[in-house]
Amino acid sequence: KNRFPNEPEYIQAVSQVLGTIEDEYNKHPEFEKANIIDRLCIPDRLIEFRVSWVDDKGHVQTNMGYRVQHNNCIGPYKGGLRFHKSVNLSILKFLAFEQTFKNSLTTLPMGGAKGGSDFSPRGKSNAEVMRFCQAFMTELYRHIGPNEDVPAGDIGVGGREVGYMFGQYKKLTHQFVGILTGKGQEFGGSLIRPEATGYGNVYFLQNMLKTRNIDIKGKTVLVSGSGNVAQYTIQKLLELGAKPVTLSDSNGYIYDPDGIDEKKLAYVMELKNIERGRIKEYAEKYGVKYVEGAKPWSEKGDIATPCATQNEINEEAAKILIANGVIAVSEGANMPTVPAAIKQFQDAKILYCPGKASNAGGVAVSGLEMSQNSERLKWTREEVDAKLHAIMDDIHENCVKYGTEPDGYINYVKGANVAGFLKVAKAMLAQGII
Ligand code: NDP
Repeated sequence: KNRFPNEPEYIQAVSQVLGTIEDEYNKHPEFEKANIIDRLCIPDRLIEFRVSWVDDKGHVQTNMGYRVQHNNCIGPYKGGLRFHKSVNLSILKFLAFEQTFKNSLTTLPMGGAKGGSDFSPRGKSNAEVMRFCQAFMTELYRHIGPNEDVPAGDIGVGGREVGYMFGQYKKLTHQFVGILTGKGQEFGGSLIRPEATGYGNVYFLQNMLKTRNIDIKGKTVLVSGSGNVAQYTIQKLLELGAKPVTLSDSNGYIYDPDGIDEKKLAYVMELKNIERGRIKEYAEKYGVKYVEGAKPWSEKGDIATPCATQNEINEEAAKILIANGVIAVSEGANMPTVPAAIKQFQDAKILYCPGKASNAGGVAVSGLEMSQNSERLKWTREEVDAKLHAIMDDIHENCVKYGTEPDGYINYVKGANVAGFLKVAKAMLAQGII
């Protein structure tokens, strides 16, 4: 806290992890001797740079560019790039820190990193987005490599942005290598990667519900966001017979009491991924409720899955969800629930899982994309989906192993943090003081 007083999101994420691993940490005096905690709380490296690009009017614009390389003890740095006006170092440091533990949980050899820019693709033309991506990669390419650091997408960075950045990397280095994941299917992308975070989120949710013999079929689900994670969470929910009823973006949310079915989801995908419109247009098209400037947590649902951004469920929202009878909360987004709200869920013994476990499917399939690129092979949809499912099952098992409390309640936060931490700490110890 003294070192990074102006980084609230980073302090929030670190406090959350340290507060849950203490008992396990104290069983390992060798960790204390090696000062593992301090070494984990300071990222290996921060890269900060200016990005200059030309807009459609011929004006030169500047943005900040960042890459936080947090820890590479179990594999090359790996983590997404976020393009959003809210991006700053505190947010990227929290995301890189979380990524290290999440990647550890996936069972695949990947270290943790995160990066991005305060550039927002919203409202920009394709040509502007391309020029920005090229300018961003013109600096970033020096710091990444297939065995060094492999970025991916995140908020504001989808297939279009990854494609432009991949093209620029190739132009600068003359290398066709798996330098980014989330690539197009034609040039090394893995099948199921676009779906992976949302599908994995629902596989994990199913596992949580199974611990209480609850079937997901017929359950009403509150979803926030309307981007990649929200869309594929809804697709899998529909496949399993659940009924999603909300969606949101940074302006507000829609509530569709009849449920967002396959046809409406196809419209959302077109609206958000191609037309790049606002969720308000859904309400206009289908004549349902739209609430400006609010989040969907006051609606009635059995399950909530926040899939937009950090800190979108506060303590009051948690109390409303509990009062409305929510049975499970599964995070598609990273750190969407504030600590006081997590406490509410846990005190009420509600099934609650942190993003580092429930949304790890995205980076897991990114890891599988790296394997396919190294092999110069492409696996089938079924193969990748089966591996994703198995990884989500493993993560759930680890959470149960390390998070089950004496009264039988599974503290998924503790389980995920302890399991993720132990592997990283042991690898750090084995590799000496570096
Ligand atoms: P997208 O950019 O595809 O979608 C983000 C969605 O969240 C949009 O609907 C966006 O609305 C909304 N949103 C963004 N910022 C805010 C905000 N400040 N307030 C309210 N709504 C906001 O991103 P993803 O779906 O990829 O990512 C969503 C979350 O999932 C993030 O937390 C990300 O870190 C996490 N995640 C993503 C993974 C992936 O594979 N994509 C993997 C693991 C985690 P608008 O259109 O108005 O900006």
